[in-house]
Amino acid sequence: MSAATITESIEAEVSASEIESEHFRELTASDRCHACGAQAYVISIVNGADLQYCNHHFRKYEDKLRPLSEYISDQSHKINIKPSQSTPD
Ligand SMILES: [Zn+2]
Repeated sequence: MSAATITESIEAEVSASEIESEHFRELTASDRCHACGAQAYVISIVNGADLQYCNHHFRKYEDKLRPLSEYISDQSHKINIKPSQSTPD
């Protein structure tokens, strides 16, 4: 593989990930559902506005949000990624 080919492929990866991450950010415990104030797991961008929803309210509004949203980041898989504090010995 030539140096030029390597450089081209790196540039292509960077620009692709920039497009993907234009709206992406990692949701944290301080992100709260607009509807109920619970921890948010889904970001939806509607008309340029950044809306966060808990899994419950995202599922409730999903049918309406999907066609309106220019971007959705569903991070609800994180709900179950918690250290178990009740693991039986
Ligand atoms: Zn909610």
